[in-house]
Amino acid sequence: MALSGLDIYKHLPKENCKECGLATCLAFAMKVAGGQATLDACPRLDDGAKAALGEASAPPQQLVTIGSGDHAVKIGQETVLFRHDDKFYHPCAVAICVDDTLDGDAMGERCKAIGALSFDRMGTTSAVGLLALHNTSGDVQRFAQAAKAAAVASDKPLVLISPDADALRAAGEATADGRPLLWIKDAVENGDAAIAVAKDLSLPLCLEAPDFDSLAALAEKARDAGLKELVLSPGPVGAAEGLSFLSQSRRAAIEKKFRPMGFPVAMVAMGEDPVETTVDACWYTLKYAGIIVTNLSSPEQLLAVLTTRQDIYTNPQVPVQVEPGLHTIGDPGADAPVLVTTNFALSYYSVESEVESSRIPAYVLAVDTEGTSVLTAWAAEKLTAATITEALTQCGVGGKIDHKKLILPGLVAVLSGSVADESGWEILVGPREASGIVSYLKNQWKP
Ligand code: SF4
Repeated sequence: MALSGLDIYKHLPKENCKECGLATCLAFAMKVAGGQATLDACPRLDDGAKAALGEASAPPQQLVTIGSGDHAVKIGQETVLFRHDDKFYHPCAVAICVDDTLDGDAMGERCKAIGALSFDRMGTTSAVGLLALHNTSGDVQRFAQAAKAAAVASDKPLVLISPDADALRAAGEATADGRPLLWIKDAVENGDAAIAVAKDLSLPLCLEAPDFDSLAALAEKARDAGLKELVLSPGPVGAAEGLSFLSQSRRAAIEKKFRPMGFPVAMVAMGEDPVETTVDACWYTLKYAGIIVTNLSSPEQLLAVLTTRQDIYTNPQVPVQVEPGLHTIGDPGADAPVLVTTNFALSYYSVESEVESSRIPAYVLAVDTEGTSVLTAWAAEKLTAATITEALTQCGVGGKIDHKKLILPGLVAVLSGSVADESGWEILVGPREASGIVSYLKNQWKP
């Protein structure tokens, strides 16, 4: 039975030393109870307490770390089925598949192209996280050499995929410093040998088998052998089957606390039709995948997957916000326009990108509305004449320009009179939607 925060707290040292990264032992206990921290994080816990708390305090899904240093990727340790119940913690990692048949130069070029797949959106950079090397050659030494070449050419952690435990051992030994994930295909046949390799090399292991029961049995065997960091995969299955597996395994882990399924799941999206493959990868992202191995490689396809990931892994209880205050776009002079918006990230970045498109340098004043959009903030009385005037005064834009004209969003044109009265500025009513900003600045704005 799951332990409550107070049950766990009773066994903690109660020293509030902060070495676990939290301010108090009670805060740590609540995190452990919620499955967002593990007892290992408290270095002062004695063996008696560890034994008393045991597995009951372990998170329902294991955290798995692939890679080392700054580029390490963490997956798993999710605690809910639906993000509105809390949030999803560790974004699924996208792994681009590369064959070990590529020669040295081609491998270098491929790794370079994968490294360039990075996108800025809403103030956050999203990138491909892993490089999945497939033992297409079937040759042990070739696989090991290709793994070494990929580790040199790329800073992405590796996923080493083979049905041959000897090949995994050779490639794993060649790249052990980078802490790759070993992925054994046909694990029903080859799992025992791969479990021994992962144990010898102290590396995380992905077990691939076609059905739930086989995977549960394999995971149990690996746990008995002492492996903690496991990933489970049904392998290359159709989207319907894949989604069914993802839902079934997440439910088993979270709702039933079924330990053999308490690991992140890796999916394969490797179709011939890139549109269909992109859609499959997006579905897997939405429904619980910890890793997606894919042959997608064009920026527009991966942008769709990474955008889906970015959206689903935001905290639904905390609006995505930008820093309130004055933002500068381009190199605005004394005659630059000043546009008002809110600090809701989607509103702000919509305005910012349209101003950039207009190529007219400007100031954008993001009023602190606790991350709510223009109309919501107005309805909640967070975007008012008083809050706009206060933001205007505090940001000091008046000292940077030689006019006193402020462009309000058209959606809150109703505020123009009161803002003019309160601030003493001339109020111009801008477009209702950000999409009208380019035309407005080019055709209507005059300092
Ligand atoms: S490291 Fe242990 S003793 Fe220190 S604050 Fe965290 S839980 Fe308490």
